[in-house]
Amino acid sequence: MKIDTAGLAALLKAQIENYSKEIKTDSVGTVVTVGDGIASIYGLDEAMLGELLLFPHGVYGMAMNLNSEDVGAVLLGNDEDIKEGDEIKRTGKVVEVPVGDELLGRVVNALGAPIDGKGPIKAKASRPIERIAPGVMKRKSVDTPLMTGIKAIDAMIPIGRGQRELIIGDRQTGKTAIALDAIINQKNAIGKKIKCVYCAIGQKNSSVASLVEKLRESDCLSYCTVVSASSSEPAPLLYIAPFAAMAMAEEWMEKGEDVLIVFDDLSKHAVAYRALSLLLKRSPGREAYPGDIFYLHSRLLERACRLNEENGSGSITALPIVETQAGDISAYIPTNVISITDGQIFLLTDYFNAGQRPAIDSGFSVSRVGSSAQFKAMKKVAASLKIELASYREMLSFSQFGSDLDSSTKKILSHGAVLMEALKQPQYSPFGLSKQVIALSCVKTGLLDDLDLPKVNPLLDDFYARLRSLRPEIVESIDSTFDLTNENAEAIKEELSAYLQSAKE
Ligand code: ATP
Ligand code: MG
Repeated sequence: MKIDTAGLAALLKAQIENYSKEIKTDSVGTVVTVGDGIASIYGLDEAMLGELLLFPHGVYGMAMNLNSEDVGAVLLGNDEDIKEGDEIKRTGKVVEVPVGDELLGRVVNALGAPIDGKGPIKAKASRPIERIAPGVMKRKSVDTPLMTGIKAIDAMIPIGRGQRELIIGDRQTGKTAIALDAIINQKNAIGKKIKCVYCAIGQKNSSVASLVEKLRESDCLSYCTVVSASSSEPAPLLYIAPFAAMAMAEEWMEKGEDVLIVFDDLSKHAVAYRALSLLLKRSPGREAYPGDIFYLHSRLLERACRLNEENGSGSITALPIVETQAGDISAYIPTNVISITDGQIFLLTDYFNAGQRPAIDSGFSVSRVGSSAQFKAMKKVAASLKIELASYREMLSFSQFGSDLDSSTKKILSHGAVLMEALKQPQYSPFGLSKQVIALSCVKTGLLDDLDLPKVNPLLDDFYARLRSLRPEIVESIDSTFDLTNENAEAIKEELSAYLQSAKE
């Protein structure tokens, strides 16, 4: 794809005109070498790190290396027309993107220029893409749930508003699907509404287009902004894309709103940054990544947080995605991002291929802060799930050796199998709180343990519909108080056994 240099240049020019007073026209440099999207410039002594530089033919660049002899800059456009000896001007400002509600429902590139053919974005404000994360005193701990609508996640790996939760797994294991379902579920968010920013890094244009189409179909585009730096764009645009998306989210957070941001994915972001760094002749480190790759991702994700009341109580919840190779979570980028985030959702290829979808491995997945934000009703039915699944998996490997199983082992096996089945969920069908709670409390009763597995989910759906018509007060009480009283839990059990009895007859 050819970059729309003219469009980008017009956008950046408009931004720079606001700052024309600051432009240091006396500070002019000369291109020494240019190639591979990188230019070395002599004479820009006072250039700032990350400053926007104006090249001839309306091409912009960003200062990345400030050496004693020269400045290394990456070009945010075509380098074909740039040659040695060209004159470069400083602009006195860093890269900025438009921010605000005008971006809702739009698809933009890494510089905030629209790429959805719906005309210009008349944003009233803009922000630098890099910013120092809010300090400790401005923050508050996570205390409000962000429901993804996916049973397995909301029950076992709950996410709170302001949390950073990594989605990690091999290719084609349903990583994007989880993030997309979480975005779609915000249509029915409990409490304060949530705005969503989806940042696609290094993906095919066609994948991004079908994701946008899905959002439109599900009526969710109105509260979403999609930022896309596709695989055909130069590495510098891939590098700045997540920072640009974060700047857009920050604008809303500072206005007191809750935002969900997805980075799909940071592995490709790291590869783009590695390409840039190697071209800039920075020394390679582990896996040839530059030494500051950890700092790059930590300063990005540290900007996602929950602000306290004095600062408007807004929040940014970040769901970064990382792709692993053959499930190896000990590679460089996965270990980095695991240590930066507040937990991870680990997806397994084996589960995915066996039809266990979403393919979440409850053993490796964890949410370090989300449980303090989990709804009470969910806490009550989900408390023992992880342990039950762990003992199920342990027994499963045992049972392969011998056929003589005692009754308690058999019980663990059949209960675990039903639980695994109940945690399956198709794409694009987020569950509300009461539906999740009732499904899990049905499984918890143990009454379903000797059911044929394919019957479990249809039965749970049917039972929920029946309960809603027979005992609407139970469903309403869960949805309004977010709690499951003992009486209601008992009533659900009674209704379930009556329902199973009537099904038998
Ligand atoms: P990539 O590595 O290519 O980015 P990914 O890990 O993001 O892949 P997805 O694109 O989300 O994976 O999903 C892969 C395929 O699996 C898609 O065709 C998707 O429709 C399907 N899929 C994902 N989740 C589910 C689910 N819960 N139920 C059924 N199908 C699913
Ligand atoms: Mg994907």
